[in-house]
Amino acid sequence: MAYLSLQGINKIYPNGFHAVHDFNLEIEQGEFICLVGPSGCGKSTTLRMIAGLENISKGEFLIDGVRANEMGPREREIAMVFQSYALYPHMSVYDNLAFGLTLQGVDDDIIEEKVNNIARILGLTDYLDRKPRALSGGQRQRVAVGRAIIRKVGVFLMDEPLSNLDAKQRVTMRSEITDIHRKVGSTTIYVTHDQTEAMTMADRIVVMKDGYIQQVGTPFDLYFNPVNMFVAGFIGEPPMNFVNCSVENGCIEALGSNVALNNILSDDMLGKYEGKPVALGFRPEGIVLGEVKNAYVFSAEVVLTELLGDNTNVYVNVGESSLILKVDPHDTPKLDSTITFSVPYENAYLFDLDTELVIEKK
Ligand code: ATP
Repeated sequence: MAYLSLQGINKIYPNGFHAVHDFNLEIEQGEFICLVGPSGCGKSTTLRMIAGLENISKGEFLIDGVRANEMGPREREIAMVFQSYALYPHMSVYDNLAFGLTLQGVDDDIIEEKVNNIARILGLTDYLDRKPRALSGGQRQRVAVGRAIIRKVGVFLMDEPLSNLDAKQRVTMRSEITDIHRKVGSTTIYVTHDQTEAMTMADRIVVMKDGYIQQVGTPFDLYFNPVNMFVAGFIGEPPMNFVNCSVENGCIEALGSNVALNNILSDDMLGKYEGKPVALGFRPEGIVLGEVKNAYVFSAEVVLTELLGDNTNVYVNVGESSLILKVDPHDTPKLDSTITFSVPYENAYLFDLDTELVIEKK
């Protein structure tokens, strides 16, 4: 296990493209960190700099307190699983797992013990004689993970390792990877563009956009206390609803109602935002059907309902705004009907539309 320190890390590619800006993060021993963000935000570049596959243009990278910028990939004692599993097709599962140790000249009986142990952890014992082509996608993925963790390394890097699997396999492998992490305990950095994967697996999530860190926090933190509109919209499925408004006399005209902001903002903040453009945000699951106390109450036209089993997504129009509400399937409203819904004050967010930063509530 190792702890990592990334201090002011930047990546500027030879063509001048600045892919990662001032990346700062302290990663504790044994922590499971997920890097998330849309395509092209710099997740893989960051991971590859940690692995030693890309040089660091500026900043300092430390492993266990020792500068590692100039260390080669092998020296860093880091193992990596890529999107493509890159198994050797002509070798059996056993030989694929053993390969790294064989190269290192480890004794055969020790290799056998380690391969059997890893195969047991990963549920591959019955498949050791098979070639990769005779395995399912999920089983291949487990061999790739096994090959990486069989060498005792301090840090384990994974770049979208589940992207080739179907939806069901992804869910299974997700819990398997968390389970393996618990058993092996290696510091893990996991790259994904899938916020559900990050929410379910990570100790802490790093949300990136355009090469910049937007927020670092526990899944709980990011969901309940997003620092800006990007994080608020990225974490959570379906995404948070936003309604653009401007503050007039301490109120906003939101969805046809006059919404008093003194319920959620301090007098200081009310003064600061008078006359400014803001966005009211609330999560699809943060609403209550009908009219309740201590809440903003709105009236909406139902345009589409999607029954998903454990909930129904209700697509509504309120004036010009299209919104999504999440309701209990038993409460699914009729198409084209008019419904009333409430956003309790504690579930309402307000964002500064100039900076897109969240406005601190009282
Ligand atoms: P994805 O989820 O699509 O893999 P990502 O967040 O991992 O995306 P990166 O692969 O890190 O993104 O790329 C970040 C940015 O750097 C992208 O705009 C990409 O086009 C650019 N980039 C990547 N490799 C190079 C390179 N060798 N030279 C120049 N630009 C590059």
